[in-house]
Amino acid sequence: MVRRGLVEHVLEHVVDSVEVRHPRAVRRHVAGADDLAIALLGARLVQAERRGKYLWLQADTAKRGRQAVVVHLGMSGQLRVQPVDAPEEKHLRIRLRLRDGAGTRTELRFVDQRTFGGWAVEPLQLVEGSWLPRPVAHIARDPLDPAFDPERVVTALRRRRTEVKRALLDQTLVSGIGNIYADEALWRAQLHGRRPTERLTRVQVHRVLAEAAAVMTEALAAGGTSFDALYVNVNGASGYFDRSLAVYGRTDRACPRCGNPIVRESFMNRSSFSCPRCQPAPRLRR
Ligand SMILES: [Zn+2]
Repeated sequence: MVRRGLVEHVLEHVVDSVEVRHPRAVRRHVAGADDLAIALLGARLVQAERRGKYLWLQADTAKRGRQAVVVHLGMSGQLRVQPVDAPEEKHLRIRLRLRDGAGTRTELRFVDQRTFGGWAVEPLQLVEGSWLPRPVAHIARDPLDPAFDPERVVTALRRRRTEVKRALLDQTLVSGIGNIYADEALWRAQLHGRRPTERLTRVQVHRVLAEAAAVMTEALAAGGTSFDALYVNVNGASGYFDRSLAVYGRTDRACPRCGNPIVRESFMNRSSFSCPRCQPAPRLRR
């Protein structure tokens, strides 16, 4: 369920009951399942927001003021809005019964097969003009966020003395760009991931961020409606990845631009893929 879907289906609903079906689904809520239920009972859901891997609902609660229900999707978590009489999902972990102003009832369900995901109710804090839950306070906006400020990110990124791919994966600079998207964006921008950020021009950094946004947009469009389609790694990724990747996972296959074989290098316990002709590696400096 994307943020937009939540806005349509659950905002301005009041929480009538809270049912936690698996303790692991609330392990990030350190005060426990009962406390989470008490916090949410009677709360009115007023906003749905997303940043990086995080999705949260703002909830006006009677006793604790405005709080955030932070949803960690983990590897397999999903939010579903269901009629109250819909059959239970096999991996149902949390269920909120909701009621709108007209008294119509519905359910917001958290379904998570592998239980890496979960919910926590967190206070909100003001960070650079936005109210954010604590776990999200250090996460930068992603390139598809309407308030994403490329000028500012370009400046911050060039100040980091690091390699450009590491900077793209740094959630405190820009969020939402995983390993696959970084490799694809770097290929499109014709930059090697090991290029030092401080030696890139503003134009080059703008370009790679714009390419990352384009890759993410294409993946979202191809992946349909699931919020986490953007963030999953190769497993479970949509058909987009089979059809549209230029370099990622394509060792020894022809670069779609120049025909040169793609090379794989190890990178932070993972891999980087690039075209040695289109993306020459930086020379080592003494
Ligand atoms: Zn090439």
